Amino acid sequence: MRKKRIAILGSTGSIGTQALDTVRAHHDKFVAEVLVANNNAELLVRQAIEFQPNAVIIANEQKYAYVKDALARYPIKVFTKPESVEQIICGENIDTVLAAIVGYAGLKPLISAIKSKKTIALANKETLVVAGDLIMKLAEQYKTPVIPVDSEHSAVFQSILGEPNKIEKILLTASGGPFFNADNKYIENATKTDALKHPRWAMGKKITIDSATMMNKGFEVIEAHWLFDVKPEQIQIVVHPQSIVHSMVQFVDGSVKAQLSEPDMRIAIAYALNFPVRLPLDSKRIDFSKFLTLEFQCPDIEKFPCIALAYKALDKGGNTACVMNAANEIAVDAFLNDKIKFLQIAEIIEKTMSMTVFIPNPNIDDYIATDIEARSIAKRLLN
Ligand code: NDP
Repeated sequence: MRKKRIAILGSTGSIGTQALDTVRAHHDKFVAEVLVANNNAELLVRQAIEFQPNAVIIANEQKYAYVKDALARYPIKVFTKPESVEQIICGENIDTVLAAIVGYAGLKPLISAIKSKKTIALANKETLVVAGDLIMKLAEQYKTPVIPVDSEHSAVFQSILGEPNKIEKILLTASGGPFFNADNKYIENATKTDALKHPRWAMGKKITIDSATMMNKGFEVIEAHWLFDVKPEQIQIVVHPQSIVHSMVQFVDGSVKAQLSEPDMRIAIAYALNFPVRLPLDSKRIDFSKFLTLEFQCPDIEKFPCIALAYKALDKGGNTACVMNAANEIAVDAFLNDKIKFLQIAEIIEKTMSMTVFIPNPNIDDYIATDIEARSIAKRLLN
């Protein structure tokens, strides 16, 4: 059987490295054809030497010489500049693109991948937050399959597979993050070390902070809206601290379908890469013979204002969610660099949302201009 050729955008990140674990474990099924990273040149080189891709791209131009030199004796093409990503994924002989760059930076590569009709395994949720309408329209126009990697959306995707019935409601589960049981005083003074201690998942820094503010769940509501064509009022966030039920779908007769597993992103990654066939995985199994408690409760919207901001962005539409995403990226980065306090993240996002010009029907150029404008406003607000 011909091996599936995969481009991993963000190969040095949490999702990217776990995807390479899958490629390593199933080298009879997959070839890592292209690897893309930004700053982590050392890891990219190690990955390239192990997986022998056709090409690697290091987006940070300052690291290009290092990568080029380190791979000089291998038949591996080395590129730099963000534009290279778009050119390479269109041109190379690739079947599936794993979109696992963090943040807005993944938008243009994703659009190129969709236009070149590669199957998309989508982890980079910010792209759907920024430009979900545009992405889903392009995917339809180019008949490009988009398979979710985010565990919640993978669970929804698996729950509706083969269903002729419409979704009545999506119950989007959330671990609640590190501050779910913390009081306001603790949250007010939380440091990045506190916020980076996620109770269930080991992930990249940005998404871990997004989980602490619960903006991650707000993003996922928007992601679910675009992926599954449901209205905001059909998506309910349910806090489920055990992170065993990865999300649920309710149908018109009151039936609810769910996907369960121990928390392990490799399951969703491998499922998306080898869809529809499941691959054997040494993930921990749920032990139903032990006393297993599955709890569900409502999130505290007052304590986590980012959830309301995300619903507001979805209701208002246009470029609002793009503004929210840009402000969030600036604020989270500032928090990680000890420039602002935890609660200021939501404040900066809200203010930026109220100060950026509203565009009701944005095209790609409008999204790019909005991202630039919102980042500049959010940066001014930091001071
Ligand atoms: P990480 O921060 O761990 O990794 C991000 C990756 O993106 C790195 O490989 C980084 O390269 C690369 N990157 C960043 N900017 C650029 C750029 N401009 N050009 C090329 N590559 C770039 O993030 P995660 O893996 O945690 O998350 C990736 C995406 O998946 C996010 O959108 C996140 O929301 C989503 N996701 C993650 C989950 C998880 O468990 N981690 C779960 C569900 C969704 P480098 O390291 O070399 O700088």
